[in-house]
Amino acid sequence: MRARTITLALLALGCGGAAAADSNDQPLTSFPYTPSLNLPSMDRNADPCVDFYQYSCGGWMANNPIPADQASWSVYGKLYHDNQRFLWGILAGLAQQQEGRTDNQQKIGDYFAACMNETAIEQAGARPIAPMLASIAALHSKSALPALLSQLQLSSGDPGFFFSFGSNQDFSDSTQIIAFADAGGLGLPDRDYYTDTDAHARQLRTQYQQHLTRVFGLLGDEPALAARNATTVLRLETLLAQASLKLVERRDPYKLFHKLERPALARLTPHFDWASYLQPLGLADVKVLNIAEPKFYAAFDKLLGSASLGDLKTYLRWHAAHSASPYLSRAFENERFAFFDHTLRGVEQQKPRWQRCVTQVDTLLGEALGREFVARVFGPELKTATLRMTRQIEQAMRQDIESLAWMSAATRQQALAKLDSIVNKIGYPDHWRDYGAVSVHADDYFGNVQRGASFEAQRQLAKIGKPLDRSEWGMTPPTVNAYYNPQMNDINFPAGVLQPPLYDPRLDDAPNYGNTGGTIGHELTHGFDDEGRQFDSAGNLKDWWTAGDAKNFQERTQCIVDQYAQYLVVDDIHINSRLTLGEDVADLGGLILAHMAWAAQTANDKPESRDGLTPEQRFFVGYAQWACANNRPENLRLHAKTDPHSPGRYRVNGLVVNMPEFEHAFACKAAQPMVSNKRCRVW
Ligand SMILES: [Zn+2]
Repeated sequence: MRARTITLALLALGCGGAAAADSNDQPLTSFPYTPSLNLPSMDRNADPCVDFYQYSCGGWMANNPIPADQASWSVYGKLYHDNQRFLWGILAGLAQQQEGRTDNQQKIGDYFAACMNETAIEQAGARPIAPMLASIAALHSKSALPALLSQLQLSSGDPGFFFSFGSNQDFSDSTQIIAFADAGGLGLPDRDYYTDTDAHARQLRTQYQQHLTRVFGLLGDEPALAARNATTVLRLETLLAQASLKLVERRDPYKLFHKLERPALARLTPHFDWASYLQPLGLADVKVLNIAEPKFYAAFDKLLGSASLGDLKTYLRWHAAHSASPYLSRAFENERFAFFDHTLRGVEQQKPRWQRCVTQVDTLLGEALGREFVARVFGPELKTATLRMTRQIEQAMRQDIESLAWMSAATRQQALAKLDSIVNKIGYPDHWRDYGAVSVHADDYFGNVQRGASFEAQRQLAKIGKPLDRSEWGMTPPTVNAYYNPQMNDINFPAGVLQPPLYDPRLDDAPNYGNTGGTIGHELTHGFDDEGRQFDSAGNLKDWWTAGDAKNFQERTQCIVDQYAQYLVVDDIHINSRLTLGEDVADLGGLILAHMAWAAQTANDKPESRDGLTPEQRFFVGYAQWACANNRPENLRLHAKTDPHSPGRYRVNGLVVNMPEFEHAFACKAAQPMVSNKRCRVW
């Protein structure tokens, strides 16, 4: 569920991976090493008390222009690219090897081989989606729509077919898995793209409509019909968008929690027969569903009543083509790229084929691939060291909660209980996923895609009514990211994020505590941000705060909302600081906790200055250098609308202005820009 998993932030990663457009790219057999505190990445001509981001990242920004196939480029994106090249080496080897492969190795090797066979994909053209289009063409009445929808959603795993359907922990009882029906059905990245009225938004809608027209052309429609169909799709999607919640509203879990029994659901959507929808999914007996956004479903039902059967089929044809376009011939891929990457994000050229194929294997067979990755790069020493650091940060949070002047004893006791219940997941899962049910063939690319997507959709649905598996991960091991899940009450650090230049066993403690320590603190703090604090130690949506403490919390977070609202993302667009609140709180809390843990770690020894930087200064520069990034303006515009994370510059400068420890480390003066005269602090 997109709103339930809270992740640490990476501009490049949320939108589908990262890579350099370097034709000399070769698969890697070992990781290139970059230290976690990298002197050439700094700009020592900049004054750290005036612009600390420039001081820490100025060299990086100058030395790392955005590759033509990227919307942004960052330290995280670069590490992800290195991970991908390493995985490429593994997959290319397994694709060629015929003898002696394990079942998993056969699946990921043959998936990669089929994906790399561009000749076969080109020859197939639009043929792979012919059966899907035929089943849409055969829809004879609206009453047959539910059964068709369940089939389309299952084989594509795509939330674009009117709505999104899956499973999740019950908000009121985290031990139970129930069916979740969420909003969906849009082609553009967010509902605001359909409703904003500024000139830029209107222009994007025109460009989207042109894209739709061209896609209908690729499906064989005459130009006039293609244009009419595009208008139809935009009209239907706009109706769904208008009824969808804004992203800021979705930060309130109560707005997403409406358990309905089947009779009540039938009254909400009289034009949609849920029995016909659920039966093919094997869910005929499901009695209660969470309808995340009832207003959306009311609008969906109204649309079903008013739209003609032909219009509904037109809408489905578009989403069938859109959802399959990354797996079809170049004509479809290029058209998708032209709008969704070039127009929306400013990307100049497509990622190389190998990289798109590595990403697909990671998405569809991620733990099979992750096993190979972990065996090569994540040994037991690394797990022990990073687990130890995690426990130190948790100890720092304990001290912090115990010393908070604004929190009462009653709430404090609950907060400590929640902290003690957090489960630490480091590197990779204890039990690897079994992909036995997925068959993969080197000569059936599109079939592999559908079977992989269908396996994952069915795996999610099969959880309904079963006991919760607390050991499950929501990210694959090579991922360069981390997350906190408030319902599982766990923090998760994949092996991919615990590598240099983020975690660097060769360097001194200071930059490691600043960088990886800050990330651990960030994820931990999510348990107590504007969303996370609403869940208790068992992962249930339950208010455990006294009214006075909740008020104190909100006053303190308001300080951060006001602070970040002043920052510009691009042109005249400011940060939507109600959307980024949880991440901004986690960034600040995380760095404060990391600093406390580092101070405890070094209490008995005196670390030395290195490279002309004191240990304190190395802590802060080490922190800042995870966030070094360059961004295209189009991509910044998209992120300003949809990303709950602030841009990298403010994830550094917005924090240090609040920390007296930073002021002392660099001997800044009170009137300088990196010293706030109104400091915010929550944790
Ligand atoms: Zn986060």
